[in-house]
Amino acid sequence: MITTKVETFNNYINGEWQESVSKKTFFSVNPANTEDVVGEFQASNEQDVKTAIEAAKNAFPSWSQTAPSKRAAILNQAASILEQNVAALAEELTREEGKHVEDAKNEVIRSAQTLRYYAVEGQSFTGETFPNDDANMKVSTEREALGVVSVITPWNFPLSIPARKIAPALITGNTVVFKPSSDTPLIAFRLVEALAKAGIPKGVINFVTGKASDVGDLLVTHPAVRAVTFTGSTAAGEDIHSKASFTTRTQMELGGKNPLIVMDDADLDLAATLTVNGAYSLTGQACTGTSRVIVLKEVKEEFTQKLVQKTSALKIGNGFEAGVKIGPLANERQLKNVLKYIEFGKEDGADLVYGGEQILTGEFEKGYYVEPAIFTNVKPNSRIAKEEIFGPVVAVIEVDTYEEAIAVANDVEYGLSASIVTNNLKIANQFTKDIQAGTVKVNRTTTGNLMNAPFGGLKKSSTSTFRESGRVGLEFFTQLKTVYMGF
Ligand code: NAD
Repeated sequence: MITTKVETFNNYINGEWQESVSKKTFFSVNPANTEDVVGEFQASNEQDVKTAIEAAKNAFPSWSQTAPSKRAAILNQAASILEQNVAALAEELTREEGKHVEDAKNEVIRSAQTLRYYAVEGQSFTGETFPNDDANMKVSTEREALGVVSVITPWNFPLSIPARKIAPALITGNTVVFKPSSDTPLIAFRLVEALAKAGIPKGVINFVTGKASDVGDLLVTHPAVRAVTFTGSTAAGEDIHSKASFTTRTQMELGGKNPLIVMDDADLDLAATLTVNGAYSLTGQACTGTSRVIVLKEVKEEFTQKLVQKTSALKIGNGFEAGVKIGPLANERQLKNVLKYIEFGKEDGADLVYGGEQILTGEFEKGYYVEPAIFTNVKPNSRIAKEEIFGPVVAVIEVDTYEEAIAVANDVEYGLSASIVTNNLKIANQFTKDIQAGTVKVNRTTTGNLMNAPFGGLKKSSTSTFRESGRVGLEFFTQLKTVYMGF
């Protein structure tokens, strides 16, 4: 073990940094070198969660009445703190999650921009006025905050996903209890620290780390919790959704099995580049990552050759090294899961034409490294074609027609993101109608979404109730009243 002193980080409850009443802790480790301990965090229990929810409940009346411009000023100040510390925060994010430090920098900047975006949008988010026949009456809708919101987030975008939930929650006057992934609590801590330094009143944001099995249920079922915004696996989302009462709103952004269709008229260099960028960025651990390539049989051989060639050029390594494109998987569960699915692919008769081995030599020995894998001749009904893997594994599925491509693309439980590569405008337009996905792209990667556009999935990729991101991202955090005002 590396013996440098490991810093201990506390929960943030009612404006105070405090230890868990459990007196237990856990460690966050570097997935590129598991001997490097990033920090020690509170293994909270239900008593901590209860105190945090009560603090948020008590802070709500005052915060919801605070002038929107003051709420916005706090978000802007927190954004400035993130921006002033981009390099240091990116380093911590890379150490904790494994993504490349340039991607980590972009995530810090994007998170600051998200705080600023909602500081502006939230101040002009309002109801409507409805014309009516009574000259002495005005009919309008008013938007008001809900109350206490639980924010539960994953490790893959450990700063930007919390930012895109917490910023709209706070600007609209809600108070928050935030539980990050136990794989990335440090960068989540930094977001809360920035809000605390920016002067957020006590109880408005509360931060509790710990296992889902210890704290998850109460974050969902406590009667004071009016809404749960969650991003993570579909299994956890279904569990949370089934436990929430009907007066608790839920917003679930879940798993995906995102297809890229390559038509016979496609620019195959572009198709291979889009596949590489969509499938392997973040080491395949993006919810919108390309997991299936559905390719017309006329171009399958040439496309596969190009894909293998581009994949073999990717540098694997530590996220601090220049030029690295594939880093470690984020944790041991991820490593085991990815290796398990590579075995499923082989057992189901697909051809592993590239990679797929765990890397255990040299510097890779202490990290969770796997070579990117490409399977061809994948049967549409096999597990690697149907189930989310969440790693750098591409399943190439051959089809005869556009109609068959759509049928295969839609024949999964998920519907998060999808793309097509074609120069045929008619097919491209038809694709936007036929595909079952919340994010639909043409000649672009399945990954990536704008901060100012709605984001979310269909089918088991989302509850499809409220979208995240953009102006509509504010809707989840407000309720409507219709006011009939007679003069
Ligand atoms: P996960 O579901 O294991 O955990 C996500 C968070 O939920 C963590 O904080 C975890 O502690 C908590 N949690 C888990 N089970 C819970 C329960 N029963 N009750 C309350 N809280 C619970 O997911 P992960 O491994 O952190 O992230 C990977 C998953 O996230 C993938 O499935 C990926 O597709 C998905 N994801 C989706 C999006 C999206 O926007 N759709 C974005 C990123 C990641």
